[in-house]
Amino acid sequence: MSVNIQTILDQASFSREDLALLLKTGEEERKLLFAKAAEVKEDYVGKKVYYRGLVEYSNLCGKNCLYCGIRAGNKKARRYEVTEEEVLEAARYAWENKFGSVVIQAGERSGKDYVRRIERLLRQIKQMSNGELGITLSLGEQSEETYRRWFEAGAHRYLLRIEVSNPDLYHKYHPRNKAHNYQARLDSLFLLRKLGYQVGTGVMIGLPFQSVEDLADDLMFFKEYDIDMVGMGPYIEHEDTPMYQYRDQLLPKMERFYLSLKMVATLRILMKDINIAATTAMQAIDPMGREKSIKVGANIIMPNLTPSRYREDYLLYEDKPCTDEDAEECKRCLEARIHMAGAEIGYGEWGDSKHFARRKKQ
Ligand code: SAH
Ligand code: SF4
Repeated sequence: MSVNIQTILDQASFSREDLALLLKTGEEERKLLFAKAAEVKEDYVGKKVYYRGLVEYSNLCGKNCLYCGIRAGNKKARRYEVTEEEVLEAARYAWENKFGSVVIQAGERSGKDYVRRIERLLRQIKQMSNGELGITLSLGEQSEETYRRWFEAGAHRYLLRIEVSNPDLYHKYHPRNKAHNYQARLDSLFLLRKLGYQVGTGVMIGLPFQSVEDLADDLMFFKEYDIDMVGMGPYIEHEDTPMYQYRDQLLPKMERFYLSLKMVATLRILMKDINIAATTAMQAIDPMGREKSIKVGANIIMPNLTPSRYREDYLLYEDKPCTDEDAEECKRCLEARIHMAGAEIGYGEWGDSKHFARRKKQ
């Protein structure tokens, strides 16, 4: 069996079946996968890990994804929006500490005032940092006009997870209505690309009803859509969501964790020069989860810069880590942990996707 896995790893291209076999590897064989992924990472993107200071701007959301703790229907969630001053303070912290970039993430909202507020924030962050801070947005599906305005105001990367690439499965995890439409989400990814953003997407791993073959398809999807960045992590149940009813059907958390690590490693081998994030959900299961992701292929990390008083309200899933640490403490321990994972930090650099640069040249 090991011979088989090594043979697959030595191939130049991979079929869906190959990918599924890599995702199914057991404790011994997965070491071969991880070693290959580490090698590919070093050759194609190097040792550097780039920081994106994460601001969880608001947990107000107009949508009702069935898995998410801040869905509109969760009346128990205490809603907030970070003030303009606080966002700028977090961005200043990121800039002064040479984080290179920030990510602004929130529930999905529209409305003129909201769009304008974000636009204003973008301009202010750019101005405050002399254009030095890179800005990634993760604010869900928006109109072309909104995406364009935010791009012109200074955002240059956008994260919009497809969540699950199979349209039939998509409807198992989302209400069946206009606001939750697979095709619309896909169209948004195209729009973002057309407007010039570096485009990131991703999926949740270990969802109920999802097979390893489905995950292999997710990887093929990233490849087919020639995506620049990927953020993916384990699905983690949340008590106040409709999907909690399926908790008995889930893989144990550690299995979801290892499946996620294998997804990262396999993706690194499949798409050698993209940016891959070590996600917070990995850390929610294993305190060293992000560092382990870095070892097997991830090269982006998003230290949380959300002001402490809001943190425990941005609960997408249970056991979300780092809700009680302040930014300074997070920074010091993270730096040491990244070095322990054999990586360096790309201080003061945007750390754009090498894949994006190559795609633009073509
Ligand atoms: N509203 C925006 C961005 C915030 S949600 C959007 O949906 O695009 C960010 C991500 O959190 C989602 O894309 C989803 O993949 C992840 N997420 C939500 N609930 C989760 C859960 N229960 N377990 C793991 N990840 C979850
Ligand atoms: Fe809202 Fe995003 Fe959660 Fe869906 S995943 S309910 S859009 S915050």
